Amino acid sequence: MEDCLFCKIMKGEIPTKTIYEDDIAKIFMDINPITNGHLLIVPKKHQENVLDIEEDFIVYALKITREKIFPLLKEKLNCDGLTITENNFYGQDIKHFHIHLIPRYKNDEYKEISNEDLLEDTDTIYKKLTEK
Ligand code: AMP
Ligand code: ZN
Repeated sequence: MEDCLFCKIMKGEIPTKTIYEDDIAKIFMDINPITNGHLLIVPKKHQENVLDIEEDFIVYALKITREKIFPLLKEKLNCDGLTITENNFYGQDIKHFHIHLIPRYKNDEYKEISNEDLLEDTDTIYKKLTEK
């Protein structure tokens, strides 16, 4: 869609700190993380919300999360858990479907907003996630 921020990101017109990409989706760091390593899984194809997302995409997202991304977050960031969320209509800022992967840490006092004291610089987190 013409004026959709995430469509522009999908086309590579706006840079992101990308962790994984294939024909179906891009997984990149949220620009305003709630915890260290907060990622978004975004389908390449524009779909808006839970009402129109293809079911196959949900299956794909589950598979890639448990096979690749959660292991990566555990290995590189030593997280203790993972919160998976997805907003629709009210509370959804970007009207292009996306799933939040929010690593959890035993001391994170998780709320729906970030705990600034615990946040590291996103460049540092990106480096940790992408270094071999
Ligand atoms: P939601 O409120 O569920 O629509 O979440 C939208 C998310 O997109 C928020 O967590 C934002 O921080 C994130 N976001 C917005 N713009 C960008 C961007 N250019 N790159 C990465 N994440 C973004
Ligand atoms: Zn879009």
